[in-house]
Amino acid sequence: MIHKATGYWIEEAGGQPRFAPLDGERDFDVIVVGGGFTGLWTAYHLKSAEPDLAVGLIESHRIGHGPSGRNGGFVDAMWVSFASLVARYGSLPALKLARASERSVSQVGEFLDQHGVEAWFRKSGYLNVSTAPAWDGSWDANLKAMREAGIVDGPRELTPQEVQEICASPAFRGGVHYGAAATVQPARLAFGIRAACEQLGVELFEWSPALRIEDAGPGIKVAAPAGLARAGRLVLASGPTLAGMGSPLKSNITLASSHMVITEPVPDVIEELGWTGGEAISDCRSLLTYFRTTPDGRIAFGWGGGRIAAGGRRFGRAELDAEVIEGVISGLRRYFPMLADRRIDYAWGGPIDASATHLPHVVELPSGRAFAAFGYTGNGVGPSQMVGRSLASLALDRRDEYSELAFIEPASALTRVPPEPFRWIGGAMIREAIGRQEEAHLTGRSVDPVSALVARIPQLIGFHIGR
Ligand SMILES: Cc1cc2nc3c(=O)[nH]c(=O)nc-3n(C[C@H](O)[C@H](O)[C@H](O)COP(=O)(O)OP(=O)(O)OC[C@H]3O[C@@H](n4cnc5c(N)ncnc54)[C@H](O)[C@@H]3O)c2cc1C
Repeated sequence: MIHKATGYWIEEAGGQPRFAPLDGERDFDVIVVGGGFTGLWTAYHLKSAEPDLAVGLIESHRIGHGPSGRNGGFVDAMWVSFASLVARYGSLPALKLARASERSVSQVGEFLDQHGVEAWFRKSGYLNVSTAPAWDGSWDANLKAMREAGIVDGPRELTPQEVQEICASPAFRGGVHYGAAATVQPARLAFGIRAACEQLGVELFEWSPALRIEDAGPGIKVAAPAGLARAGRLVLASGPTLAGMGSPLKSNITLASSHMVITEPVPDVIEELGWTGGEAISDCRSLLTYFRTTPDGRIAFGWGGGRIAAGGRRFGRAELDAEVIEGVISGLRRYFPMLADRRIDYAWGGPIDASATHLPHVVELPSGRAFAAFGYTGNGVGPSQMVGRSLASLALDRRDEYSELAFIEPASALTRVPPEPFRWIGGAMIREAIGRQEEAHLTGRSVDPVSALVARIPQLIGFHIGR
């Protein structure tokens, strides 16, 4: 098994062009910081809307090599979080946001078709399954919120028998199937957007970390090691690093991590499971496990149970953690025991920017000319395309449906997370307790009272855990 930070998808996507670092002094209309999905989609939508706009994108390492190029490739709408959206924004704004996120899934597919990018996009929906009695019906509140909002074409609740017809894991019970979801090869998607940006004339710079940002005076200045970019507008799309020291949003983000493995091709196992429809599947845990197939018959399996990172540290055990990978592999074999003797080809991981609401937020920073997005909490692949539209509209001062979506809030309205070191220490304790509680649920044991109490702390202090 090859265990490295960047994982399987980037390797599979093949050799990619390199871009020179930002050098000398440069002027742009808009400068985008961060070359993941959020930054790439923003640059793409800016240049598509206004071809003469000078747009620069600076990336601290390689474009698309962060979480955007190494995730599970679930392209989800936000229906699965609909009850949380209603609780935060009210029914109508939540509905507009969820509908826009549903369109975002299709728009990703349309982008790939339009640009001739083969990124394995397959729209087979998303199945959320219970794997222990504790999670049976855990989707009830979400489906109720959808019914109350008048959604008649919503998700389909499935009996255990119906779930078995989709994927016959011995661990699966009942579930719910959300139609508006797809899977994709995430690195191929990221590199496809990068190529489209380049074609449109976005100037791309790699190995150019934004070290200092000055948002005062006539223009914004972004300093990188070998150059300085000046711009009228700034978009901060640096994902997990927004949790770090010096970030204007450091009080609103916790850094967790998610880790994945991918098997050798096992088409016979996929056939045996009857899992030939390409559905993206996850269980209902707070420390979620998620899995999907690939066109060459592999199973990619991930677990959101990685460690909490101190400050904004996105490297180290946030991306390489042998102990967590052991947990991923035992999760894989628990749900798919027939894989016990099959080879695992790759393991990898990456940081997750978690907001207190577990929902993404788009913010206008106090100067009114800098904007940021964060907090996808492990669900950014589908929504980031919509977020890119919102950030582009805000940076262009356009009033349209994307500049008015409910997730655009002033920074002062965002829920704060505890300061460091309490965020890290408390987060680590809570993660351990939730892990013990969920393991007890999965093995049919009773939960020890201390773990049960600590696992409830987020709820008691108004933090949302899970969808
Ligand atoms: C293992 C794993 C599995 C996941 N699975 C899924 C999934 O199946 N479905 C889903 O929807 N989501 C999933 N996610 C989450 C998803 O990957 C993210 O929500 C999404 O990629 C966020 O995109 P982004 O552009 O905001 O951030 P990123 O992809 O983190 O991009 C930010 C970029 O900014 C760069 N950067 C940071 N600091 C600076 C700086 N100072 N200057 C310049 N550049 C900087 C980084 O190098 C990075 O390239 C998963 C994440 C992980 C780690």
